[in-house]
Amino acid sequence: MATVSLEDVRKVYRGGVAAVKGVSLDIADGEFISLVGPSGCGKSTTLNLIAGLEEMSGGTLRIDGAVVNDMSPRERDIAMVFQSYALYPHLDVARNLAFPLKVAGVAKADIDARVREVASLLGLEGLLSRKPKELSGGQRQRVALGRALVRRPKVFLFDEPLSNLDAALRTQMRGEIKKLHEQLKATFVYVTHDQAEAMTLSDRVVVMNQGEVQQVAPPRELYDAPANLFVAGFFGAPRINLVKPRTLGLPDADVVLGLRPEHLEVGQGTPPPEALEGHVYLVESMGAESWVTVDVAGERMVARAAGDFRVPTGAPVWLRYDAAKLRRFDAKSGRAL
Ligand code: ADP
Repeated sequence: MATVSLEDVRKVYRGGVAAVKGVSLDIADGEFISLVGPSGCGKSTTLNLIAGLEEMSGGTLRIDGAVVNDMSPRERDIAMVFQSYALYPHLDVARNLAFPLKVAGVAKADIDARVREVASLLGLEGLLSRKPKELSGGQRQRVALGRALVRRPKVFLFDEPLSNLDAALRTQMRGEIKKLHEQLKATFVYVTHDQAEAMTLSDRVVVMNQGEVQQVAPPRELYDAPANLFVAGFFGAPRINLVKPRTLGLPDADVVLGLRPEHLEVGQGTPPPEALEGHVYLVESMGAESWVTVDVAGERMVARAAGDFRVPTGAPVWLRYDAAKLRRFDAKSGRAL
């Protein structure tokens, strides 16, 4: 069992930067949880506090119910995978994998068995005698993962582990990490600034901004029912349309209305009843779909259209939306209403 619980956890760095401002979070055993948010929002600091690499300024951290505030990283039985691979360049893959066990004084026969087991899990069997410089980026990242796995820790922490990889490899490794989690059934805490990674990997996502948690929810819920404007704007590409009621032909009020581009239909010709009228500002063809930006009542909105949608800039178009899909936010606080 490996639950992780944060209670009002805080971090103020020397010099006075309040990086984490009272985060409370209960991570279940075997859960895959992502911390996501823009650069500088406190994700890595939160992860480092869990790992014990940074000292907390306040709050309580528990692993499996035991308070670990004053425990060293090693005592916490946690493994961390970083963005930089941090492999030992002079050791081959087998020795890199064996290193953490050697340090921990595990018997040689056990080390060999565990290295073989992890190598097979990650498809590294054929690479055991290579040095890191003889590996591709993806292979190196796999070795780094393997080095975290051999110790069989209670909790795995990942800090942007894929951000050094190219797009194709990133997608592939993302799938592998998800598979790995299914196989290990261990607790994973994963930091990323990439909304797609957070959405596809996680059981739940923690959205952070400026050191504070904005919302904790399963990916679908974050997308369908964002708690505030920040969360609404963070997930979704193209971004959610955030407009005044007037733009949608509704009476004025102190609210911001959110409408996802897939809930906005764009067309040419005679407008259907209750459609809005506007002009095309930009059409971006993405292959399977097009993103159509339309000027309407002094604001711009993006609609998703078919891949073959072709309308010249400036052409008149109509827009129709599904009123049931509108999200309403308080204009002052940004909170969902
Ligand atoms: P993220 O991982 O979301 O990009 P960080 O946790 O790295 O954010 O940083 C949160 C805030 O704390 C930022 O303002 C950053 O500049 C600051 N910070 C991070 N590490 C240190 C440090 N060692 N000393 C002082 N400030 C730091």
